[in-house]
Amino acid sequence: MTAVIMDGNAVGKAVRGRLAARVQALAKRGVTPGLAVILVGENPASRVYVRNKVKACTDTGIHSVLVEYPADATADTVLGRIRELNADPTIHGILVQLPLPPHIDVDDVLATISPSKDVDGFHIESLGALLAGKPDFQPCTPHGVMEILDHYEIPLSGRNAVVVGRSNIVGKPMALMLLGRDATVTICTSKTRDLAAHTRNADILVVATGRPRMVTGDMVKPGAVVVDVGINRDADGRLVGDVDFDSVKDIASHITPVPGGVGPMTITMLLANTVVSAERAAG
Ligand code: NDP
Repeated sequence: MTAVIMDGNAVGKAVRGRLAARVQALAKRGVTPGLAVILVGENPASRVYVRNKVKACTDTGIHSVLVEYPADATADTVLGRIRELNADPTIHGILVQLPLPPHIDVDDVLATISPSKDVDGFHIESLGALLAGKPDFQPCTPHGVMEILDHYEIPLSGRNAVVVGRSNIVGKPMALMLLGRDATVTICTSKTRDLAAHTRNADILVVATGRPRMVTGDMVKPGAVVVDVGINRDADGRLVGDVDFDSVKDIASHITPVPGGVGPMTITMLLANTVVSAERAAG
Protein backbone atom coordinates (compact mmCIF):
# COMPACT_ATOMS: atom_id res chain seq x y z
CA MET A 1 0.00 0.00 0.00
CA THR A 2 1.28 3.46 -0.85
CA ALA A 3 -0.20 6.26 1.19
CA VAL A 4 -2.35 9.07 -0.19
CA ILE A 5 -0.16 12.17 -0.09
CA MET A 6 -2.08 14.91 1.74
CA ASP A 7 -1.17 17.99 -0.26
CA GLY A 8 -1.00 21.09 1.93
CA ASN A 9 -0.35 23.34 -1.06
CA ALA A 10 -3.60 22.24 -2.72
CA VAL A 11 -5.65 22.45 0.49
CA GLY A 12 -4.11 25.86 1.26
CA LYS A 13 -4.92 27.12 -2.23
CA ALA A 14 -8.56 26.06 -1.87
CA VAL A 15 -8.87 27.76 1.53
CA ARG A 16 -7.15 30.93 0.26
CA GLY A 17 -9.54 31.05 -2.71
CA ARG A 18 -12.50 31.09 -0.31
CA LEU A 19 -10.77 33.73 1.82
CA ALA A 20 -10.16 35.98 -1.20
CA ALA A 21 -13.91 35.96 -1.86
CA ARG A 22 -14.56 37.04 1.73
CA VAL A 23 -11.93 39.79 1.42
CA GLN A 24 -13.77 41.07 -1.68
CA ALA A 25 -17.06 41.05 0.21
CA LEU A 26 -15.41 43.11 2.97
CA ALA A 27 -13.99 45.53 0.39
CA LYS A 28 -17.54 46.25 -0.81
CA ARG A 29 -18.26 47.37 2.74
CA GLY A 30 -15.15 49.60 2.75
CA VAL A 31 -13.08 47.29 4.99
CA THR A 32 -9.61 45.93 4.16
CA PRO A 33 -8.33 43.30 6.61
CA GLY A 34 -5.05 44.48 8.13
CA LEU A 35 -2.25 42.40 9.68
CA ALA A 36 0.71 43.88 11.57
CA VAL A 37 3.82 41.70 11.77
CA ILE A 38 6.50 42.64 14.30
CA LEU A 39 10.02 41.35 13.76
CA VAL A 40 12.77 41.93 16.31
CA GLY A 41 16.36 41.10 15.35
CA GLU A 42 18.09 39.48 12.43
CA ASN A 43 17.21 35.77 12.71
CA PRO A 44 17.44 34.66 9.04
CA ALA A 45 14.71 31.99 9.36
CA SER A 46 12.37 34.54 10.97
CA ARG A 47 13.04 36.94 8.08
CA VAL A 48 12.00 34.25 5.58
CA TYR A 49 8.83 33.42 7.55
CA VAL A 50 7.90 37.11 7.83
CA ARG A 51 8.52 37.72 4.12
CA ASN A 52 6.29 34.75 3.25
CA LYS A 53 3.53 36.01 5.54
CA VAL A 54 3.63 39.51 4.04
CA LYS A 55 3.54 38.09 0.51
CA ALA A 56 0.62 35.79 1.36
CA CYS A 57 -1.29 38.83 2.68
CA THR A 58 -0.66 40.77 -0.52
CA ASP A 59 -1.76 37.82 -2.67
CA THR A 60 -5.03 37.54 -0.71
CA GLY A 61 -5.86 41.27 -0.66
CA ILE A 62 -4.95 41.72 3.02
CA HIS A 63 -3.16 44.93 3.99
CA SER A 64 0.03 44.19 5.94
CA VAL A 65 2.34 46.38 8.00
CA LEU A 66 5.83 45.12 8.78
CA VAL A 67 7.32 46.63 11.95
CA GLU A 68 11.03 45.89 12.29
CA TYR A 69 13.30 46.49 15.27
CA PRO A 70 17.01 45.79 15.80
CA ALA A 71 17.95 42.93 18.15
CA ASP A 72 18.76 45.41 20.95
CA ALA A 73 15.33 47.08 20.93
CA THR A 74 13.92 47.39 24.45
CA ALA A 75 10.89 45.46 25.64
CA ASP A 76 9.15 48.79 26.33
CA THR A 77 9.58 49.84 22.71
CA VAL A 78 8.00 46.63 21.44
CA LEU A 79 5.20 46.60 24.04
CA GLY A 80 4.45 50.26 23.32
CA ARG A 81 4.08 49.55 19.63
CA ILE A 82 1.79 46.60 20.31
CA ARG A 83 -0.46 48.88 22.40
CA GLU A 84 -0.62 51.38 19.51
CA LEU A 85 -1.55 48.59 17.10
CA ASN A 86 -4.20 47.32 19.56
CA ALA A 87 -5.85 50.73 19.24
CA ASP A 88 -5.44 51.04 15.45
CA PRO A 89 -8.78 50.34 13.72
CA THR A 90 -7.08 49.53 10.38
CA ILE A 91 -5.25 46.59 12.01
CA HIS A 92 -7.26 43.43 12.72
CA GLY A 93 -4.42 41.05 13.53
CA ILE A 94 -1.09 41.43 15.34
CA LEU A 95 1.65 38.86 15.11
CA VAL A 96 5.03 38.96 16.83
CA GLN A 97 7.48 36.67 15.08
CA LEU A 98 9.11 34.24 17.52
CA PRO A 99 11.72 33.65 18.81
CA LEU A 100 12.43 37.01 20.43
CA PRO A 101 15.86 38.12 21.70
CA PRO A 102 16.40 36.72 25.21
CA HIS A 103 16.07 40.10 26.99
CA ILE A 104 12.43 40.39 25.87
CA ASP A 105 9.94 38.29 27.85
CA VAL A 106 7.82 36.40 25.35
CA ASP A 107 4.96 35.94 27.83
CA ASP A 108 4.74 39.73 28.39
CA VAL A 109 4.68 40.30 24.65
CA LEU A 110 1.96 37.73 23.96
CA ALA A 111 -0.11 39.00 26.90
CA THR A 112 0.01 42.57 25.57
CA ILE A 113 -1.57 41.69 22.23
CA SER A 114 -5.32 42.32 22.42
CA PRO A 115 -7.10 38.93 22.42
CA SER A 116 -9.42 40.40 19.76
CA LYS A 117 -6.39 40.74 17.42
CA ASP A 118 -4.54 37.58 18.52
CA VAL A 119 -4.49 35.95 15.09
CA ASP A 120 -1.61 33.64 16.06
CA GLY A 121 -3.80 32.24 18.83
CA PHE A 122 -0.96 32.29 21.38
CA HIS A 123 -2.56 34.63 23.96
CA ILE A 124 -3.35 32.81 27.17
CA GLU A 125 -7.02 33.81 26.70
CA SER A 126 -7.11 32.16 23.25
CA LEU A 127 -5.42 29.02 24.60
CA GLY A 128 -7.80 28.98 27.59
CA ALA A 129 -10.81 29.24 25.28
CA LEU A 130 -9.54 26.21 23.38
CA LEU A 131 -9.01 24.31 26.63
CA ALA A 132 -12.56 25.16 27.71
CA GLY A 133 -13.93 23.76 24.45
CA LYS A 134 -14.99 27.22 23.20
CA PRO A 135 -12.23 27.99 20.69
CA ASP A 136 -11.75 31.53 19.42
CA PHE A 137 -8.55 32.27 17.49
CA GLN A 138 -6.74 28.94 17.26
CA PRO A 139 -2.98 28.45 16.83
CA CYS A 140 -2.37 28.33 13.10
CA THR A 141 -0.28 25.17 12.70
CA PRO A 142 -2.59 22.70 14.49
CA HIS A 143 -5.59 24.52 13.02
CA GLY A 144 -4.07 23.92 9.59
CA VAL A 145 -3.62 20.23 10.42
CA MET A 146 -7.33 20.01 11.22
CA GLU A 147 -8.14 21.61 7.85
CA ILE A 148 -6.03 19.00 6.09
CA LEU A 149 -7.66 16.12 8.00
CA ASP A 150 -11.11 17.51 7.16
CA HIS A 151 -10.22 18.08 3.52
CA TYR A 152 -9.26 14.40 3.20
CA GLU A 153 -12.38 13.41 5.17
CA ILE A 154 -10.43 11.59 7.87
CA PRO A 155 -12.85 10.39 10.56
CA LEU A 156 -11.75 11.46 14.04
CA SER A 157 -14.51 10.57 16.47
CA GLY A 158 -13.62 7.59 18.65
CA ARG A 159 -10.30 7.01 16.92
CA ASN A 160 -6.94 6.83 18.66
CA ALA A 161 -4.92 9.99 18.01
CA VAL A 162 -1.34 10.25 19.21
CA VAL A 163 0.41 13.63 19.26
CA VAL A 164 4.18 13.51 19.70
CA GLY A 165 5.32 16.85 21.18
CA ARG A 166 3.71 19.17 23.74
CA SER A 167 4.70 22.72 22.79
CA ASN A 168 2.16 25.48 23.44
CA ILE A 169 2.11 26.37 19.75
CA VAL A 170 1.75 22.89 18.23
CA GLY A 171 1.48 19.77 20.40
CA LYS A 172 -0.85 20.87 23.19
CA PRO A 173 -3.36 22.80 21.04
CA MET A 174 -3.25 19.95 18.50
CA ALA A 175 -4.23 17.47 21.20
CA LEU A 176 -7.08 19.75 22.37
CA MET A 177 -8.41 20.18 18.83
CA LEU A 178 -8.44 16.41 18.28
CA LEU A 179 -10.08 15.92 21.68
CA GLY A 180 -12.66 18.54 20.70
CA ARG A 181 -13.54 16.29 17.76
CA ASP A 182 -13.98 13.28 20.04
CA ALA A 183 -10.73 11.49 19.25
CA THR A 184 -9.12 9.52 22.09
CA VAL A 185 -5.90 11.46 22.49
CA THR A 186 -2.47 10.52 23.83
CA ILE A 187 0.32 13.10 24.12
CA CYS A 188 3.91 11.81 24.01
CA THR A 189 6.99 13.78 25.03
CA SER A 190 10.73 13.29 25.35
CA LYS A 191 10.02 11.59 28.69
CA THR A 192 7.61 9.01 27.24
CA ARG A 193 8.72 5.41 27.81
CA ASP A 194 8.51 3.16 24.77
CA LEU A 195 7.34 5.79 22.31
CA ALA A 196 6.84 3.20 19.57
CA ALA A 197 4.27 1.30 21.68
CA HIS A 198 2.17 4.49 21.68
CA THR A 199 2.70 5.49 18.07
CA ARG A 200 1.84 1.96 16.88
CA ASN A 201 -1.52 2.36 18.56
CA ALA A 202 -2.35 5.53 16.61
CA ASP A 203 -5.05 5.69 13.95
CA ILE A 204 -4.00 9.32 13.56
CA LEU A 205 -0.39 10.21 14.34
CA VAL A 206 0.77 13.84 14.49
CA VAL A 207 4.50 14.37 14.99
CA ALA A 208 5.91 17.75 16.13
CA THR A 209 9.26 17.19 17.80
CA GLY A 210 11.91 18.96 15.73
CA ARG A 211 13.81 15.63 15.50
CA PRO A 212 14.57 14.83 11.85
CA ARG A 213 12.97 11.57 10.59
CA MET A 214 12.55 10.19 14.13
CA VAL A 215 9.31 8.32 13.39
CA THR A 216 10.08 5.37 11.17
CA GLY A 217 7.89 2.82 9.40
CA ASP A 218 8.19 0.23 12.18
CA MET A 219 6.62 2.75 14.61
CA VAL A 220 3.45 3.19 12.52
CA LYS A 221 0.28 1.08 12.49
CA PRO A 222 -0.65 -0.14 8.99
CA GLY A 223 -3.32 2.17 7.57
CA ALA A 224 -2.64 5.04 10.00
CA VAL A 225 -2.99 8.68 8.99
CA VAL A 226 0.38 10.38 9.58
CA VAL A 227 0.82 14.15 9.83
CA ASP A 228 4.37 15.48 9.90
CA VAL A 229 4.64 18.97 11.39
CA GLY A 230 8.44 19.00 11.57
CA ILE A 231 10.61 21.31 9.51
CA ASN A 232 14.31 20.45 9.77
CA ARG A 233 17.39 20.63 7.57
CA ASP A 234 19.34 17.42 7.09
CA ALA A 235 23.12 17.21 6.72
CA ASP A 236 22.80 17.99 2.99
CA GLY A 237 20.72 21.10 3.71
CA ARG A 238 17.46 19.54 2.46
CA LEU A 239 14.17 20.19 4.26
CA VAL A 240 13.00 17.07 6.07
CA GLY A 241 10.23 16.37 8.54
CA ASP A 242 10.10 14.55 11.86
CA VAL A 243 8.77 11.49 10.03
CA ASP A 244 10.91 9.23 7.86
CA PHE A 245 8.73 9.68 4.78
CA ASP A 246 10.30 6.88 2.72
CA SER A 247 9.72 4.12 5.27
CA VAL A 248 6.31 5.37 6.47
CA LYS A 249 4.65 6.02 3.09
CA ASP A 250 4.25 2.29 2.39
CA ILE A 251 2.64 1.63 5.80
CA ALA A 252 0.33 4.62 6.31
CA SER A 253 -2.96 5.18 4.49
CA HIS A 254 -2.36 8.96 4.33
CA ILE A 255 0.74 11.09 4.94
CA THR A 256 1.76 14.75 4.69
CA PRO A 257 5.04 15.44 2.86
CA VAL A 258 7.74 17.91 3.95
CA PRO A 259 7.84 20.36 2.32
CA GLY A 260 4.32 20.84 0.94
CA GLY A 261 2.28 19.41 3.82
CA VAL A 262 1.54 21.29 7.02
CA GLY A 263 3.85 24.24 6.26
CA PRO A 264 1.63 25.99 3.67
CA MET A 265 -1.39 25.59 5.96
CA THR A 266 0.16 27.57 8.82
CA ILE A 267 0.23 30.83 6.85
CA THR A 268 -3.17 30.06 5.36
CA MET A 269 -4.77 29.82 8.80
CA LEU A 270 -3.09 33.09 9.82
CA LEU A 271 -4.81 34.74 6.87
CA ALA A 272 -8.08 33.04 7.85
CA ASN A 273 -7.87 34.36 11.42
CA THR A 274 -7.13 37.88 10.12
CA VAL A 275 -10.17 37.80 7.83
CA VAL A 276 -12.37 36.54 10.69
CA SER A 277 -11.11 39.39 12.88
CA ALA A 278 -11.85 41.95 10.15
CA GLU A 279 -15.35 40.51 9.64
CA ARG A 280 -16.01 40.83 13.37
CA ALA A 281 -14.76 44.42 13.40
CA ALA A 282 -17.03 45.18 10.45
CA GLY A 283 -19.98 43.78 12.39
P1 NDP B 1 9.42 22.40 20.56
O1 NDP B 1 10.90 22.22 20.54
O2 NDP B 1 8.84 23.57 21.26
O3 NDP B 1 8.75 21.08 21.14
C1 NDP B 1 9.18 19.82 20.75
C2 NDP B 1 8.41 18.79 21.52
O4 NDP B 1 8.83 17.50 21.07
C3 NDP B 1 8.63 18.84 23.03
O5 NDP B 1 7.40 18.72 23.70
C4 NDP B 1 9.53 17.63 23.30
O6 NDP B 1 9.30 17.00 24.55
C5 NDP B 1 9.11 16.68 22.19
N1 NDP B 1 10.18 15.75 21.87
C6 NDP B 1 11.46 16.04 21.55
N2 NDP B 1 12.15 14.90 21.34
C7 NDP B 1 11.29 13.88 21.52
C8 NDP B 1 11.40 12.48 21.47
N3 NDP B 1 12.57 11.90 21.16
N4 NDP B 1 10.32 11.74 21.71
C9 NDP B 1 9.13 12.31 22.02
N5 NDP B 1 8.96 13.65 22.09
C10 NDP B 1 10.02 14.43 21.85
O7 NDP B 1 8.99 22.38 19.01
P2 NDP B 1 7.69 22.96 18.26
O8 NDP B 1 6.47 22.30 18.77
O9 NDP B 1 7.74 24.44 18.20
O10 NDP B 1 8.01 22.45 16.78
C11 NDP B 1 8.10 21.07 16.48
C12 NDP B 1 8.50 20.90 15.03
O11 NDP B 1 7.51 21.50 14.22
C13 NDP B 1 9.82 21.59 14.64
O12 NDP B 1 10.43 20.82 13.63
C14 NDP B 1 9.36 22.93 14.06
O13 NDP B 1 10.28 23.43 13.12
C15 NDP B 1 8.10 22.48 13.38
N6 NDP B 1 7.11 23.55 13.20
C16 NDP B 1 6.51 23.62 11.99
C17 NDP B 1 5.56 24.56 11.74
C18 NDP B 1 4.91 24.56 10.41
O14 NDP B 1 4.40 25.58 9.99
N7 NDP B 1 4.86 23.41 9.71
C19 NDP B 1 5.17 25.57 12.74
C20 NDP B 1 5.78 25.35 14.04
C21 NDP B 1 6.74 24.37 14.23
P3 NDP B 1 9.60 17.72 25.97
O15 NDP B 1 8.47 18.67 26.15
O16 NDP B 1 9.61 16.60 26.93
O17 NDP B 1 10.92 18.40 25.81
